[in-house]
Formats: sequence, structure tokens, C-alpha cells
Amino acid sequence: MTAAYELGKLGHKTVIFERMTELGGLASTFQVEPGVPLERGYHHWFTSDTHVVAQMQELGLGDRVQWIPSKTGWFEQGKIWSMVSPSDLLKLGTIPLIDRLRLGAATAYLTYLQRDKKNLYKYESITAHDWWKKYTGDTVWDKVWGPMFRGKFGARADEVPMVWHWFKIVLRIGSRRGLNKEELGYPRGSFQVLIDALEKAIKQKGAIILKGATVKRVVVENNVACGIELAEDENTRAAFARVGAIHESPLQESPLQESPLQESPLQMNERGYIPFDRVYSSAPSFATLKFVHELPSDFVAKMNEAKYMGAVLIILKLKQQMTPWYWLNIADRSMPFVATIEQTNFIPPEVYNNKRIMYVSNYLDAASPYFQMSREELFNAYVPHLKKLNPNFTPDWVEEFWHFKEAAAQPVFPLRYSQKIPPLRTPIENFYLGNTTQIYPEDRGTNYSVRLGQDIARLIDADTKSGGWGNNS
Ligand SMILES: Cc1cc2nc3c(=O)[nH]c(=O)nc-3n(C[C@H](O)[C@H](O)[C@H](O)COP(=O)(O)OP(=O)(O)OC[C@H]3O[C@@H](n4cnc5c(N)ncnc54)[C@H](O)[C@@H]3O)c2cc1C
Repeated sequence: MTAAYELGKLGHKTVIFERMTELGGLASTFQVEPGVPLERGYHHWFTSDTHVVAQMQELGLGDRVQWIPSKTGWFEQGKIWSMVSPSDLLKLGTIPLIDRLRLGAATAYLTYLQRDKKNLYKYESITAHDWWKKYTGDTVWDKVWGPMFRGKFGARADEVPMVWHWFKIVLRIGSRRGLNKEELGYPRGSFQVLIDALEKAIKQKGAIILKGATVKRVVVENNVACGIELAEDENTRAAFARVGAIHESPLQESPLQESPLQESPLQMNERGYIPFDRVYSSAPSFATLKFVHELPSDFVAKMNEAKYMGAVLIILKLKQQMTPWYWLNIADRSMPFVATIEQTNFIPPEVYNNKRIMYVSNYLDAASPYFQMSREELFNAYVPHLKKLNPNFTPDWVEEFWHFKEAAAQPVFPLRYSQKIPPLRTPIENFYLGNTTQIYPEDRGTNYSVRLGQDIARLIDADTKSGGWGNNS
């Protein structure tokens, strides 16, 4: 959406094909109460997320950005420990004092002495597992980071490069205003306000958006991307019918008249595809490979260097507060989820008609049994463990619950990934790729997707103006 918005500002006409019937992708929302949107996966910003906040301001939504203190806790040994301030590390009673001191010293060292980006190369050549064990001993990894990494990266926990953690620590602690409190950002009205404003701004620039339209194939001729072939399912057909015309159809019969926003219909040519000068895929790498078949094997190998973890979320609408924490890390690995995020300890319950909202979050390999479970199976598996967080909890606190899963939630990078990242210009002329596997070393997030969309737009604009296909970069 950002790429289309930026290209529109530069005078280009764009068309967005979105498989889902609503926009927003991983940041999309659903109605948790009538007329009250909530993200399918918990979402907030760090104070370092300057690109997306600037975009909010540009779209006239600056006054919607709220910075709210957040409370982070740690659940282990049947107890919740505060993790709000760095000094809380010293009180984490699950590990001996000497290890707490080592953990605190190493975290402070990373945060304050290693901030410079030039350290990237150093930290991308060693795994987090090896770094923490080397500098702080076994306990800090085995009892603190190991359980957290296993929760986020599953069987790949020990493979995650230190650069991911280094950047996360630098950003997370850099997000604090004052040492003892962390403030996180959230748009008043949810992330939906940004999605809606972008949609409006994109359309005002003459773009066409097809919701519910699945791309089946990027048409490539003589190694040049020249169009899009759509899937034949009902949603896609309906999406195309709203804005498109097939080459034989006389213009007056086209359903275009229903859509006042565009000047000319989207034309499908006699060969059954919609011609374009340039094509950009923002879909995950494995999804892109399903609709682009001509990429050379060495580029495909690059696209497969990063592995995706899936996310499984249960969202509970509760009659009562479960815990006083916004973010609760679950370090007890006998529990089948890695974090609970109690939205109403961050955004007041009044926003949600005084209901309490809590995410129960898990990052898994898409093949994991928890990824395959039905909504009810998952809920039933979680209930006994929710009682550990609040012994008074009973299932009748739950008024309603939702289940969402996403296969491409979190990329996991290999060591020295800076030398392996697929470039935004692919080896197919006029075909660009930009997804979360190309956001590095930062953790993926809406802020960096906005930055990536801006980069792609600049690249497409420059290539269009030069009429060429620059060197891969
Ligand atoms: C659980 C969770 C929590 C998160 N928390 C935060 C947070 O707190 N803060 C934050 O900033 N970010 C957060 N994020 C990340 C953020 O949502 C993503 O980084 C961002 O939305 C990625 O945007 P994107 O457009 O690059 O990709 P996506 O959102 O993945 O968009 C890709 C789109 O391509 C579409 N698509 C795929 N195949 C096809 C096809 N064949 N035809 C047509 N369309 C297709 C998909 O439907 C999708 O809409 C979180 C993500 C998850 C999963």
C-alpha cells in the first residue's frame, strides 16, 4: 500500500491485487465489538518507528498517535516477575544473583556501547545462543533467553543470529523514555485508521484496488515481466468484474460504470492477462514463488535463505481482567504459548465497551500440531494454563474468542544474511520483490514495511524515468 501511495505521488498509475477481501495483511483488523476494530495480531509501535509515524502525520492522522506506558512481565515458576525497568532484571528470582548481574551488564553493554550500526557484521556472524553462552554463561541462555527464543523461533531457536537480538534490544530499550518506563505507540481507532487513510489516498491518486483478487501468475516473456494473470475463483472474478473489462467487451457494457473513481477500466488482453509495465510482489517469498515461475535457481535459493515461522493467536473477550500486565512473556516452556498480550492493560477497556481483551500468542512452525489445531482444540488446550496466570480464571469469563493463524509471521535469518538478502530488483526485468525477508537486521514491523514500500517506489520511479533496468541493488 505504501509503494502504491508513493508511486501515486510521483504520478504513476498503480493497481493493487489483494487476495483477502480486506486490506492490511498481517496488520489487518476484525470487529471485536460492533464497530470496534482490533488487530488480528497485537500491534504497537516503538518510539524508534519513525517512518510509519511520519506517514500517519502526512495522512493527517498525527493526532491519532498515542504514546502509552506499557507494563511487561515474566511468568515462571508459577509467579509473575516485573520486567518494566532494567533494575527488575536484578530481582528476577528464577536465576542466581550472579547470573542476573551478568545478564544486566551484558544487556547494558549491548544497549549503550554497541548501538553503532557498524556492529552489524560482528553480531551477524554468531548465533544468539553462542553469544550469550560465551559472555554470560549457560544459565542466562538456558533459563532466560533460550525459553523465549524457543517460543518465538521453535526448533530454530539456537540458529538465530545475534544480530536479531542485538537490534531488538537496542530498539526496545531505545524505545524507553527514561530508564524505568517504556512507552509504546498505538493509533487511536486501531491500525485500521492507517489502512483506511492509505486506501483513500491511494485511490485519490487514481489507483485501482482489487480486494479479494488472487494473483495466479506474473506473466514473463523473454525474461521481462509484462502482466498479471488472475486466479479463476469466485472472489477474484467478482473483484475483477467490479473494475475490469475483457478485451472483447465494448466499453459501455463494462461494469466500470459502477466504479466512479477510475478513468478507464482495467483491461484484460486477448491472451487472458492484464498488461503492466512493472510488477511488484510484496507477498511472502514462498507465496511469490507460487505465482512467478521463471526466477533463476540461484535467486530462488536466496529467497529461501530466510525461513518463516507461523503465528497462532487466540483472542479472548473476557468479563474480567486476567492479569495487570500488557505483555507477559511465558518462560515456563511446559505451557503451550509464549506470551499473553492483554490489550486492555494498554488501551482502556472503555474503548472495547468495557470488555477485557487478551491475545494468547504462539510462534510455531506451520507443520506443528498447535498450528493445525482447530479453534476449540486450541482453546481447550490453553484453558488449564491460563489458570496458572490467574487461579480464579474459569472458562465462563470468556464471552467470545477468535482464532487466527498466519504462516509467514516471522522470518528467521541465517548467519551473515547481509550478504544473502535477495535484492529488490529481481533477475526478471521489471519485476520487483519486497517483503519481510528483506527487512534486516531490524525485526519485521509496519514501520519497516513502510520504509520498504518507499524504497520500492523510488526504485520503480527511477527505473521508469531512466527507461532501464539498473544493476541489482
Ligand atoms: C502476530 C504478529 C504481531 C505483529 N506485531 C506487530 C507490531 O506490534 N508492530 C508492528 O509494527 N508490526 C507488527 N507485526 C508485523 C506487521 O504486521 C508486518 O510486518 C507487516 O504488516 C507486513 O506487511 P507487508 O505488507 O510487508 O506484508 P503482509 O502483511 O504479509 O502483506 C502481504 C499481502 O499479500 C497478499 N497476498 C499473498 N499472496 C497473494 C496473491 N497470490 N495474490 C494477491 N495477494 C496476495 C496477502 O494476503 C497479504 O495481504 C506483527 C505481525 C504478526 C504476525
